[in-house]
Formats: sequence, C-alpha cells, structure tokens
Amino acid sequence: MSKLDAYRSIFDLSGKTALVTGGARGIGNAIAAACSAWGARVVLADLNAEAAEGAARELREAGAAVSARGCDVTRSEAVEALFDALSEEGGVDIIFNNAGVSARIPAENYPDGDLQRMFDLNVHGVFYVMRAAARRWIAAGRPGRIVNMASFAGLVADPLSAPYAASKGAVVQFTRTCAVEWAPHGILVNAIAPGYVRTEMTAHTLDQPEAGAAIRAKTALGRPATPAEIAGAAVFLASGASSYVTGTVLAVDGGWTAM
Ligand code: NDP
Repeated sequence: MSKLDAYRSIFDLSGKTALVTGGARGIGNAIAAACSAWGARVVLADLNAEAAEGAARELREAGAAVSARGCDVTRSEAVEALFDALSEEGGVDIIFNNAGVSARIPAENYPDGDLQRMFDLNVHGVFYVMRAAARRWIAAGRPGRIVNMASFAGLVADPLSAPYAASKGAVVQFTRTCAVEWAPHGILVNAIAPGYVRTEMTAHTLDQPEAGAAIRAKTALGRPATPAEIAGAAVFLASGASSYVTGTVLAVDGGWTAM
C-alpha cells in the first residue's frame, strides 16, 4: 500500500452498520444516504415505520444497503427491543442519535405538555439510545461510534426556544461526559451542532419573512444549510478519519456561533 492509499480510505465505512434515528427524512435521511455512499449498511429507525420503509426503499433503489424499523425512541423498552433485534443481525457499529423535535414558543407561556414532549425525545430518547448501544458494546468488548445531533442552540442562546436550547445543552453534556466515561471501552462519542437547516422542522420558520431574514442575518454565510451539508461531518465522525476525536461538538452552522 502506498503512503497515499492509507489516506484514500479514511472515510471508508465498508463493513460497518450504522443506525440513524429519525432517518426517514431531513438531516437523518441525508446522513443515511452519505453513509451508504461510503459503504455502510444503514438501518433507518423512525417513529413512522411506513415513512422509514419508504425512505429505505428509495435509498435501496439508488443502490444502498438500507433497511427500516419503526421505533419510538422516547420509549426505553422500544429502544431495547430495537437493539436486541439488531444484535441478532450482527449489531451496529455507528449510531446517529438524530431524532429530535423543536418548538418556538415564548418561555413564559410554554405549556407543560410541550415541555414534556421536548425532553422525552431530545433528552430521554437520546440517552436511551446511547445507553442501549454502549451497554451492548461494552459487554461484547466491541468498539463503537455515537454521533449525537445537538444544535447551535445547545451552545448559545436561542430566543423562543428555551426548552429546545436546554435539551440540546443536555445533548452536549451527554456527549462530553459519556465520551470520557466510555473512552476506555473504545467508544467514541461526538456531536454535531448544526445551524439552521431547511427541513420539515424549520421550513415554516425560514419562510416567515421576518424570522427568515433574522436567521440569515445571524448566519455568517447568509443562508440556511441543506441536509446534505450536514452529512459530511457525519461521515467524518463515523469514520477512521476521526479516530482521535471524542467528546467534541462540531459546529456545522454557517458561522452562526462565530458571530
Ligand atoms: P425533521 O423533523 O425533519 O425529522 C425528524 C425525524 O425524526 C422525523 O422523521 C420524525 O418522524 C422522527 N421522529 C420524531 N419523533 C421520533 C421518535 N419519538 N422516535 C423516532 N423518530 C422520531 O428534523 P430535522 O431533520 O430537521 O432534524 C434532525 C435533528 O437535527 C434533530 O435532532 C434536530 O433537533 C437537529 N437540528 C436540526 C436543525 C434544523 O435546522 N433542521 C438545526 C439544529 C439541529 P415523524 O415524521 O414520524 O415525526
């Protein structure tokens, strides 16, 4: 092998299985496509099993090795059942803990139910998935990668999104703390903190003239990202290229947190 060949394969994911929660659409779907393109077998896990199967079919038609499973990650027993089923098929190597929800509501009027739903998914759901993966990897003496989906809102203030920002702050601290706790087991834990990305989650806000203009003004690059623009960071954090990276939160935010 030449000196350059070793570097040509640093993003290669052949032989790896990646799980993407919330992978039926948006950022998770782009990550699934990108990891497939780099050779991974991908499992899409989504609340809506039918949507996940439709997304998997589309990726298979493009040549990817993708399967789908319905899973509500806010239910710890459903997450355990998902990982038991995946273990029977050889287990997973890479977790993209991507499913999340957002809401823009003034903090002083935030309803209890919305607060509960936000933390059930963005905090509890993320932790259930991390815990289920790590427990199995540690028991099997198998290394693994966890890539959590944080947000710029987990790093700086995001008015009208206090519970969302707090939930992403929790994702940041799950990432740092579990990275240190699980490093001796060869489990690398990192997070991506996107800026605004045009998906079903954000299209409504981005299309409001005032909110859309404010978002563009707070983004150094002056525009929201496409889901594909988050996928490169995901492949990096899943691959050999990041073998010495753990506990980090990689901002992919068009310069939002630099301003
Ligand atoms: P989308 O809303 O487009 O997609 C989220 C996916 O997660 C949907 O397929 C949804 O399924 C699924 N999902 C929802 N609840 C659950 C659940 N309980 N169990 C399993 N799957 C579930 O989101 P984005 O792609 O925009 O965002 C993905 C991640 O990136 C989120 O964590 C978000 O907070 C984060 N992020 C997004 C940004 C953006 O600007 N878009 C910016 C920064 C971070 P269903 O359709 O059935 O609800």
